[in-house]
Amino acid sequence: MEIDRAALRHNFRQVRKLVGPSLGILAVVKADAYGHGLIPAAQAFAEAGATAFGVAEIEEGVRLRQAGITGQIVVMLGVDRQGAAEAVAHALTPVVYTLDALEALGAQAAKAGCLQGVQIKVDVGMGRLGLLPHELEPFLAALRRFPKLYLSGIASHFPKADVEGDGLTEKQYGLFQELLTRVQGDGQGRINHIANSATLLRYPGMRCDMVRPGISLYGCYPADWLSQASALELKPAMRFTTRVLQVKEIPAGQGISYGHRYVTEHSTRLAVLPVGYDDGYLRRMAGKAEVLLSGQRAPVRGMICMNACMADVTDIPGVKAGDEAVLLGGQGAGEIRAEEIARWSDTINYEILCLFGSCNRQVHV
Ligand code: PLP
Repeated sequence: MEIDRAALRHNFRQVRKLVGPSLGILAVVKADAYGHGLIPAAQAFAEAGATAFGVAEIEEGVRLRQAGITGQIVVMLGVDRQGAAEAVAHALTPVVYTLDALEALGAQAAKAGCLQGVQIKVDVGMGRLGLLPHELEPFLAALRRFPKLYLSGIASHFPKADVEGDGLTEKQYGLFQELLTRVQGDGQGRINHIANSATLLRYPGMRCDMVRPGISLYGCYPADWLSQASALELKPAMRFTTRVLQVKEIPAGQGISYGHRYVTEHSTRLAVLPVGYDDGYLRRMAGKAEVLLSGQRAPVRGMICMNACMADVTDIPGVKAGDEAVLLGGQGAGEIRAEEIARWSDTINYEILCLFGSCNRQVHV
């Protein structure tokens, strides 16, 4: 798994160019930076100017601090009692939505004698984490009781910013704005944010004080239709390659791999690759998957095994053991994108990046 740090920097700079010099950008590096490697990815974004990072869990924030990442680190799933001590010790900014978390953070900040920032998460219709709109004001009243806590921001998240034309995102943004106005006296200089990549691309008027992109920083679009005429020119940063183990001629009428679900129609040249579902190359891609060899597409034949799959290179002359095969990314004039692999396996590009990233060793180039 090759991760192109220059592509990560490029994508961050594309987002910077789109939003202008003064808006905040929270680089979302949760889930091991969508499979790209938490620390090297955060470092690449920092080199490109990132000063704020979003992680899911406290442990990720601690790892970033230990690697020397400065700036704001927002913990988007919040903290429990134990996490509160870590948040204060490492100057992480957790999202809060329970009184328990306020109490734990308030106590830890008082003990450490420091001021601790928190961000309130409100749920304006995602149906996931956060306070319901009517809970915001009572929660703010509770927050005021903790002298060592201060409100550094209010955040929410859209469920359908990548979906065309049902007006829901506009409605939810309206509700978010109404809430922000209602509580405008709280949290001096606070930073409000709601915009993921799709919002960033589609709704320039909804960027608030800071945008919160993830997938676009890794060079992918949040939906296929958003890649056309996009305001962002993105470069995919992940490339997944292997080497051919063996090339062999198989006669017509021979079944290939477990279950013999594919039977050769004619004499076929197969390249055996040491990649299978243990590497995130899923069985459900069988019959659809293609790989690149010598810059050309070769269909994967038969069932994908745990540690192997077979590419049909009958039409690609000269392929031999040791040649590079590309499962994701470019080779010569060819390219296989995460979106395409997502279609083969009935999922989204996000899941492919996370899957490949978690199953394979990343090398940063
Ligand atoms: N904000 C939150 C709360 C998220 O959960 C995510 C991703 O899932 C993002 C921002 C980034 O979204 P995207 O990767 O679509 O830009």
